[in-house]
Amino acid sequence: MNLTEPVESLKGVGPKTAEILRKVGIKTTRDFFYNLPRDYENFQQANSIMEIRPGKVTIRGKIDSLTTRRTRRRNLSITEGVVRDKTGAVKVVWFNQSYRTKQFEKDKEYFFTGNYELKNGRFSLISPSAALVADIGPRMGLSPIYVAHGRIRSMDFQRLVEKSRALFNSIPDLLPTVKTGVRKEALFKAHFPESLKTAAKAREYLAYEELFSLILAAKLNRRENEKLRATPVPFQAKEVKRFVDSLPFKLTNAQRLASWEIFQNMENETPMNRLLQGDVGSGKTMVAAMAAYAAALARKQVAFLAPTAILAKQHYDKFAQLLGNFGVSVALLTGATKGKAELKREIRSGRIQVVIGTHALLTDDTEFADLALVIIDEQHRFGVNQRQKLVLKSPKDTAPHLLMMTATPIPRSLQLTVFGDLDVSILGELPKGRQPISTKIMAETAAKEELYPKMREILGTGQQIYWISKAIEDGVGADGAKSEVTSVKTRTKRLREVFPEAKVEFLHGKMKPAEKDEVMERFSRGEIQILVSTTVVEVGVDVPNANLMVIENSESYGLAQLHQLRGRVGRGGEAGFCYLLTSGDLQPSRRLRELERSTDGFYLSEVDLKLRGPGEIYGSLQHGALDLRIASLSDTKLIHRAQADVEKFLQMGEKMLEYRELMAGIKKYQQITTLN
Ligand code: ADP
Ligand code: MG
Repeated sequence: MNLTEPVESLKGVGPKTAEILRKVGIKTTRDFFYNLPRDYENFQQANSIMEIRPGKVTIRGKIDSLTTRRTRRRNLSITEGVVRDKTGAVKVVWFNQSYRTKQFEKDKEYFFTGNYELKNGRFSLISPSAALVADIGPRMGLSPIYVAHGRIRSMDFQRLVEKSRALFNSIPDLLPTVKTGVRKEALFKAHFPESLKTAAKAREYLAYEELFSLILAAKLNRRENEKLRATPVPFQAKEVKRFVDSLPFKLTNAQRLASWEIFQNMENETPMNRLLQGDVGSGKTMVAAMAAYAAALARKQVAFLAPTAILAKQHYDKFAQLLGNFGVSVALLTGATKGKAELKREIRSGRIQVVIGTHALLTDDTEFADLALVIIDEQHRFGVNQRQKLVLKSPKDTAPHLLMMTATPIPRSLQLTVFGDLDVSILGELPKGRQPISTKIMAETAAKEELYPKMREILGTGQQIYWISKAIEDGVGADGAKSEVTSVKTRTKRLREVFPEAKVEFLHGKMKPAEKDEVMERFSRGEIQILVSTTVVEVGVDVPNANLMVIENSESYGLAQLHQLRGRVGRGGEAGFCYLLTSGDLQPSRRLRELERSTDGFYLSEVDLKLRGPGEIYGSLQHGALDLRIASLSDTKLIHRAQADVEKFLQMGEKMLEYRELMAGIKKYQQITTLN
């Protein structure tokens, strides 16, 4: 059977139905078969009516006295009836499902499953789903539930799938398999399960198919990358060592190892494609500086992309100082940079060796003479297209070496799948002398007694404080929506009253770049004691003397973001403190409690993956298309199995192309895995 045919080709799918299906992404017969039930209604264990207790119940009986009426007040339609079996009778009620009146035949037996609860003073079965016992027969008491789409309800899907029952048999296998017919069997059993167990097994196979495709896509991307040519950057050990010796600290072992891996990659003719992962404060920027220095020594150019102007400026300051001492010319290019045209001429001529900037780096008129290394900080902030733009700036027919950095640890499962085309270096240790940050969840109302004294103590020792607020103006959230939260401006005023001895200033994303720079600079120099800011300080900002952070409305941030924010403190040798303020009297969320408990970014990312799912973590920007329908990226066992099988598959060489549906299907994954 040809799975690329339009859904109309299926029995029972007319133009109108097809239209609705297309809108929800079910365009081909393949999409139709892969539209798996979201759950199964288990009619296998029906209770007799006499036995039922409040809660979820399943009964089996005949229904009568069905009527539908409308309430005048809320214009609700209420359908009521009575279900009877040998042991008794029970009232059933549906809201806004008037079609129920016509659904049932008087003398036939149905299963009903739903909540048995007290409603309007009477125990009733509320909005149960129903299925004809005779229909359920072949499904052994399990009935699939599909996500309803517009007019097409779960039971319509059931009917359509039923009509296509015979077609399952002609679905070809997707992957090389020992036994043939594995795929059609899995699809069939997912739609017509014999038991919950066989349904789960069937779905597991389909999840495996999905993971196989994703991993294969990443591996093929890697192969493509290996076909590209880069300019080799010879490693000049003596000079690099001199540079390292000039640093005011000793490198951590992890930094040493990571830089070694990078130097080796850069010596190759194959472009480096490496992700440098390290928790906040682990010293990634220093590793980037070494890589940049190595490239500059070889008389090549480096582009360093940062997500915000503040961060670009800070990297620039650091690089200009460190590399400047060794005769490397460093420049900053952001939207606010003056004399851009002149600067771009210098970049084009090759006089500037290291360019650090924001999105301004990506414009077409930013051209390089000999770009050999691209560094991307906080890589998850950028989309594939943005990265691609930069990569294309290397000389014709070559690709630059690519070093991407992230503080968002990537769970192992994602490393094997979505990021399977990357080499990864991990900075798994923090520089010596760092003390863990103590984190505390605190009700806003307790601030006066508990928080202010702590802040006073910190200020008393000459250390500085971040206060993170959500809104820029009163009544308007950072996202522009209406908001009740205290703005940075109001908070600044209040803190000035509470701490008259301290200099309190604010920072937010709507300020002019020059103003932001100025505030940030004064904070760095210690001229500001309390910086009230929106999350613009989230990424990378490095002020080692700031050791206490207060995060207001902490419930409204994600786990990764809170961890990043918190990483701004405790960066010098002093202990760091983070207070997560909560408003209202709800229990603190699991997110906050995990954050209070652990400072291990890797652990937290695993928790985050579980709580939110991969799509959200890796941002709509980059992996919005990563729409795994069945597989879960937390299923490491299945991932490992798929990975091993992909390796075998890759050995097939040309023969891989015979798996046409598979090869065509992975194109979309190839787009979203990191390289292309
Ligand atoms: P990241 O980008 O990984 O969050 P940074 O590179 O900004 O971390 O480093 C955090 C701070 O630690 C900076 O002030 C940096 O100068 C300092 N640092 C980097 N490496 C070391 C080291 N090996 N020993 C001590 N301090 C270090
Ligand atoms: Mg950083």
